[in-house]
Amino acid sequence: MSWTSAQLLDAFLSTTSDQIIPLTAKGVASGSKVFGAAILRKSDLSVVVVATNHETSSPLLHGEINCIQQFYALPADQRPLPKECIFFATHEPCSLCLSGITWSGFDNHYFLFTYEDTRDAFNIPHDIKILEEVFKVPTPSETPEAFAKRPLYNKSNAFWIARSVADLVNDLEGGEKNTMEKRVKEIREEYNGLSGVYQGGKGSKGIPLA
Ligand SMILES: [Zn+2]
Repeated sequence: MSWTSAQLLDAFLSTTSDQIIPLTAKGVASGSKVFGAAILRKSDLSVVVVATNHETSSPLLHGEINCIQQFYALPADQRPLPKECIFFATHEPCSLCLSGITWSGFDNHYFLFTYEDTRDAFNIPHDIKILEEVFKVPTPSETPEAFAKRPLYNKSNAFWIARSVADLVNDLEGGEKNTMEKRVKEIREEYNGLSGVYQGGKGSKGIPLA
């Protein structure tokens, strides 16, 4: 089944509003970060599992990793194959989560907020910093300008294709595009509030990269 960008957006934004944000509100109240994820069936866009960041338990329990763990905790005969699923993350997956999605067998992922949003609007700079510091190796032949412009990871590769919600919105036109832009803006405002709660208590829960 091949879905239109509007259908995918409707599923992602509804899942975010109805399921991920309420869970995130509980998570940030206990000191975890604002990141969430969902796994949906390609066949009908129904939600298989939703999860959020749980770094107060372990710094590896990012929203995406927690979601993958819960997906694989389902009995094998009750869960679809990863190739039969769509992976959605509220925030562009970090290096840990990009690898987690890859190792788990998903052939796609979509995200709402970009790394730059996470750094600038959410005041969490680690995604970009880890990719630049750990993975981005300068080559002697490259100018500093070319190095700075080199993408931090490959959004279309042998394992998966990644697309942002903004990419999907840009597929639309006219009133349909305006409606989706408005929905995204409303969700962004809700996240501003959740981010304020997290930032207000940041540093008090022993998370190594808070
Ligand atoms: Zn992550």
